[in-house]
Amino acid sequence: MKCPTCETFIAFDWLETECIEPNEKFNSPHCNEVLRYEIDEGTYLGAQHFTVEVVDE
Ligand SMILES: [Zn+2]
Repeated sequence: MKCPTCETFIAFDWLETECIEPNEKFNSPHCNEVLRYEIDEGTYLGAQHFTVEVVDE
């Protein structure tokens, strides 16, 4: 998935390494934007699809 602000790729492996859960706020490793991601449940067992959005604070 890509950061909506700087369009830099964010690897799911990185999220796992950082122990960031779905719907949990995290700082983009690239631009420090506050982001949140969701897993698309419909494709959970197949090709996983993630959506990421900016959190307005
Ligand atoms: Zn970014």
